[in-house]
Amino acid sequence: MSVLALGDGLYEVETASDTTYLVDLQAGRCTCPDHIFRGTRCKHVRRVAIEITEGRTPPPGEVAVPCHDCATPVFVDEDEPDPVYCEAHTLSPGDRVVDRETGDRLTVVDVSVLRADAVRIDAAGCTVAEYGTNENYDPDVPVVGAIYPYATVARHGVVPESLRVYVFPRTRLTNQFEA
Ligand SMILES: [Zn+2]
Ligand SMILES: [Zn+2]
Repeated sequence: MSVLALGDGLYEVETASDTTYLVDLQAGRCTCPDHIFRGTRCKHVRRVAIEITEGRTPPPGEVAVPCHDCATPVFVDEDEPDPVYCEAHTLSPGDRVVDRETGDRLTVVDVSVLRADAVRIDAAGCTVAEYGTNENYDPDVPVVGAIYPYATVARHGVVPESLRVYVFPRTRLTNQFEA
């Protein structure tokens, strides 16, 4: 039997004989004859519960969404905005990333909850989403602040401007490095 989470606590169960039933887990209901006519807790409801316990199917309220970078299914709240990232591809301050546009390596300093089309770059007079080559990336993804891993050192120390934080749409950066 294979189980597919449809959201709203509903699961589609396909049996070995290619019959498909709909299970409402929280109500303990199933569209199979065993449940409808005999009122028993059928094997489809049990199967959904087992799949959830074993982590192969998301619990009610969550859905399985492919990671933006590697397509691994990730269980997230049904109303979680795109894009979704697996644990390995979730960015945190200190992570090293690559700019997909230039191939430059950077270090993440901040992952904002604000979207690229909501953050303005004052010096450029536009939003992060509208800025230059960022137009190739999704405007509705979070903004990530990152620094280049080098600084200009002058006689009296590091030149502060050379350590500026640059902002990128999340999907422009990846922490997947080519082997
Ligand atoms: Zn059933
Ligand atoms: Zn991933």
